[in-house]
This record gives sequence, C-alpha cells and structure tokens, in this order.
Amino acid sequence: MGLITLTQEQINEIISDLQGTCQSLDKVIYDVTEGAANGLNEVANWMQFCDVLDNIIFMCAECGWWCEAGDYAEVQEDNPDGDVCSDCGPDEEEEEN
Ligand SMILES: [Zn+2]
Repeated sequence: MGLITLTQEQINEIISDLQGTCQSLDKVIYDVTEGAANGLNEVANWMQFCDVLDNIIFMCAECGWWCEAGDYAEVQEDNPDGDVCSDCGPDEEEEEN
C-alpha cells in the first residue's frame, strides 16, 4: 500500500462532497481518489488537507453531519467531545416572546 498526495482539486472536491452530509471522510476520500486511498491514513498530505478542511467545514460531534465552519453552537463548555453544530447545541434563552 502506498501513500497518495491529494491535489488541491481533490481536496476541494472531498470537502464539497462532505459538506451538508453525514458521509464518512474515509468513504469520500476513497470515492474522490477512485480507490487510490482508502482513508486519511493513506494520504501523504493529510495535515495540509485538515488545515483546508478545518477552515471550511467541521463534523458535528452530536449528529455527525458536516457543517459549515462557524456554525458552532454558542455554548461549548458542556461538549468535551468536540464541536457541535448550532442545531444540536443548547437552545438559546432568547425566545421569551
Ligand atoms: Zn449537529
């Protein structure tokens, strides 16, 4: 088994395929590289990949969906497992109409 280096094009494709879905990262990498890499541990430049990915999307620790970066829940102290999206976050207390 060899390491493969993702091109910028493939990185963009992986991220846009993931966004708004709950697909596994490994599966999308497999699809985009046409089977050349079977998951992140076979990607030579995964740190570069993660840098780009982190700036665009994140996986919600609660629902497992890939959400737009910045769409975090307001309160995160109660979520030691990681970032959760605003849908899964605690309800805000402003709805007292
Ligand atoms: Zn969520």
